[in-house]
Amino acid sequence: MSSSIKSSFVNGRFVQPRGDEQILENRNPSEPADIVDRFARADSELTCAAVEAADAAAPAWANSNPQVRADVLDRIGTEILQRREELARLLAREEGKVVREALGEVDRAGRSFKFFAQEALRSAGEKYDSVRPGVGIDTIRHPIGVVGIISPWNFPIAIPAWKIAPALCFGNCVVFKPAELVPSSAWALAEIISRSGLPAGVFNMLIGPGSRVGDALMRHPMVRAISFTGSEQTGRQIAAAAVERMAKVQLEMGGKNPLIVLDDADIELALDATIQGSFFSTGQRCTASSRLIVTDGIYTEFVTRLVERTRALKVGNALDASTDIGPVVDEKQLESDLAFIQSGLAEGATLACGGNRAAVEGGGFYLNPGVFLDVKSHMRIYREEIFGPVLSVLKVRNYEEAFAAAEDTEFGLSAGIITSSLKYAEHFKRHSSAGMVMVNLATAGVDYHVPFGGNRGSSYGPREQGTYAREFFTKVKTCYQRSN
Ligand code: NAD
Repeated sequence: MSSSIKSSFVNGRFVQPRGDEQILENRNPSEPADIVDRFARADSELTCAAVEAADAAAPAWANSNPQVRADVLDRIGTEILQRREELARLLAREEGKVVREALGEVDRAGRSFKFFAQEALRSAGEKYDSVRPGVGIDTIRHPIGVVGIISPWNFPIAIPAWKIAPALCFGNCVVFKPAELVPSSAWALAEIISRSGLPAGVFNMLIGPGSRVGDALMRHPMVRAISFTGSEQTGRQIAAAAVERMAKVQLEMGGKNPLIVLDDADIELALDATIQGSFFSTGQRCTASSRLIVTDGIYTEFVTRLVERTRALKVGNALDASTDIGPVVDEKQLESDLAFIQSGLAEGATLACGGNRAAVEGGGFYLNPGVFLDVKSHMRIYREEIFGPVLSVLKVRNYEEAFAAAEDTEFGLSAGIITSSLKYAEHFKRHSSAGMVMVNLATAGVDYHVPFGGNRGSSYGPREQGTYAREFFTKVKTCYQRSN
C-alpha cells in the first residue's frame, strides 16, 4: 500500500495501514477529478483499540496539572492560527466553502483552543453553608472519562475544535470521529494535536464510516459521553443508544431558521442579512435562514431586489477568490437539493430565480441559489431542512402573523428579525422559542465564547461552547464535611 495513504490516530501514533483496509477517496467538490487525500478506513476493531487507549490514559489525564492542559491547548490554538492560510485552502478544497469563509472557520477553531486553554485554569468548585450546624459543603467538578465526539461535514475544523478543546480542557480523553466527506481537515487537526505534548491515548481520531465506526463508538461501554453534531435522524439513534446504557449525550442537529423582515426594516441591511444567512456557505449551515417571512408593505420592493441580488451572486470554484458561492458538498446532497426544488414546484410555489445546476468548469456539484415565492406554510420546502442554497419566502400582513409563522416549526435553533422597532425587537427576543435570536443580523454567524444551541428538534442536552461547555464535559460531586 502506498505511503501516501493517510490513516487514523490511535494511542499516540498514526496507525500503519495493514494493506487490506477499504480506501476512502476524499474528492474536491469543485472539481471531483481532484483527489485531496486517500485514507485507510478504520473498522470496529480499531475503534475498540482507540477507546481502550483513551480509557487507559483517563486517570492520569483527569488528575493532570491544569497548567499542563492550558499549555497544550494554547500550543494547538497557536499552530492553527499560524497555519490559517494553508488550513483554509485545504478546507475549501475538500468541503467547497469559499476561502474567505474557510479562513473565518479556521480562526474560530484556533480561538476555541485558546479560549479553553484559559478555561483550564478557571475550573473551580463551589462552597455552601449546610442547613446543619458545623457542616460545610463543597462541590467538585470531575471529568467524565472517555468522550466520543462525532462531527458533520459542514464545519470540518470549527465543530471538532469546539468539542475537542473543552473535552481536553476539563480532563477528559477523546475519541473523535469526523465525517467521511471531510477527513483531511480532521487529519490536519489530529497531526497538530499529535505534536502538542499530550500523553498517548488522551486524544484519538478514527477515519471511517458512521454506520461502522460511529456506531461502534457510540455503543462502547467505556465511552461515558457522546457529543454529536449532524442530522436529526442520526442524533435520535445516538440518543437512544446513550440512554440505553446511561451515557451522557449532547446533540446539535438541524434547523429551519426563520428571518422576519418587517415594513420598518432598513432594506439594505435586510438584503445583506438575507443573502449572507441564506446563501453563504452554499446554504449548508444549521443556522442558515431558510424561511424568509416578509410583511406586505415592503414585500414587492424587497423581493424584487432580493432576486436581483441573488442572480448576481457568482457560483464557482471554492478556491477562486472571485467566487461568492462554492459547490454543494457532493452529488448526493446536490440530488437531495434538486429533489426539494422539484417538490416546491410540484406543490405550487414559484421559483423566481436559480434552483438549477450551474455549469462551471471542473464539473463540480454547482447549484444556482434559488428563491421560492408564493410559498405556503404546509409545503415541504418551508417545513423541512434542505441544507442547500434554497430560500422560501412567505408573505404575511403584520408582526403578529410573522411571529406566528416563525414559531410554526419542529426546529428551534436560530431565529432573526430585521426591524427598526424596539417594541418588536424586544418582543421577539423575549418570546421566540429558538435557542439563539438575532436582531438586525443574519441567523447564521455566532461567536465562539458564548453558549450555542437550540431547542425542540434542533438540540438536546447541555449547551456547547463558552463557559457553558463545562456542564456537559464535567460531572459534579457534592462533599459534606463536619468541621467540629
Ligand atoms: P449525519 O448525521 O449523516 O452525520 C454526522 C456524523 O455522524 C458523521 O460523522 C457520520 O459519519 C456520523 N454517523 C452517521 N451515521 C451514524 C451512526 N449510525 N452512528 C454513529 N455515527 C454516525 O449528518 P451530516 O450529513 O454529516 O451533516 C449534516 C447535518 O448536520 C444537517 O442536518 C445539519 O443541520 C446538521 N448540523 C447541525 C449543526 C448544529 O450545530 N445544530 C451544525 C452542523 C450541521
